[in-house]
Amino acid sequence: MNVSMHELMVWAVLLAAPVTLLFLWFRPAPYGRHSSRPLPGPTLSNRTGWVVMELPAVAVFLLVYLQGDSAARMAPLIFLAMWQIHYVNRTFVFPFRTRTEDKRIAVAVVASGVLFNSANAYINARYISHLGEYDPQWLSDPRFLAGAAIFFCGMTLNLHSDHVLLNLRQPGDSGYTIPNRGAFRLVSSPNYLGEMIEWAGWALATWSLAGLAFCVFTIANLLPRAHANHQWYKERFPDYPTDRRALIPGIF
Ligand code: NDP
Repeated sequence: MNVSMHELMVWAVLLAAPVTLLFLWFRPAPYGRHSSRPLPGPTLSNRTGWVVMELPAVAVFLLVYLQGDSAARMAPLIFLAMWQIHYVNRTFVFPFRTRTEDKRIAVAVVASGVLFNSANAYINARYISHLGEYDPQWLSDPRFLAGAAIFFCGMTLNLHSDHVLLNLRQPGDSGYTIPNRGAFRLVSSPNYLGEMIEWAGWALATWSLAGLAFCVFTIANLLPRAHANHQWYKERFPDYPTDRRALIPGIF
């Protein structure tokens, strides 16, 4: 059996997902509100940490993409744009909007983010411009149209929810309050819900195992954190709205 490096990495991401979910359910990733005190090992400023952690998602994707035979074709170019719109914001805009000037992030957390983002960018970019066969008709295929619509709905929810959170603090403030705007009226982590919807749309639009692996891993990563955030809000704020759910309105 001749298994390519790409297939191996896609399966590694897929198989890592349930392990990650189980582990994070009991031990939330130690950054932000779930940071352990003191932070383990060396640290970086929160802002630098986020930029370093997310940079491979922009750079590795672009480098791998540009080497593909299909790099100049229309459908792959649209996928490139979708990916980069998300990750340019996450890498170069989001960290500079956070009000976390006095906060640090462990190098171990940043390193695990770098590792995942590099592998994930590689498997997705390699599929999009090297391995996948996207002719111009793909752009009118219902899977592409529905996937792209879902992707942009998820992105809108994610961006708006990030915006609500980032505006809760005054400059120089690093405390926490209850968010009550937008989809926060329904769930504690609509930013994560938006992120999951985005990558579900990506998986459908690209119709690829690499896209599916990313979507599954995102859920495995963010579902336990949404649960932990919800518990954290309820423990910290006695007046936390009782009808608000963790992630899925009315359900979970
Ligand atoms: P959080 O919701 O924990 O925090 C986002 C920002 O808002 C942080 O700066 C945080 O500060 C601040 N904040 C959060 N809650 C409050 C509050 N109640 N009051 C005041 N400020 C608050 O999100 P993450 O940091 O976990 O994630 C950021 C983005 O990255 C999200 O959009 C998420 O979807 C995405 N992401 C995607 C992943 C993936 O697997 N694809 C993995 C992880 C994140 P502080 O840092 O001080 O807590």
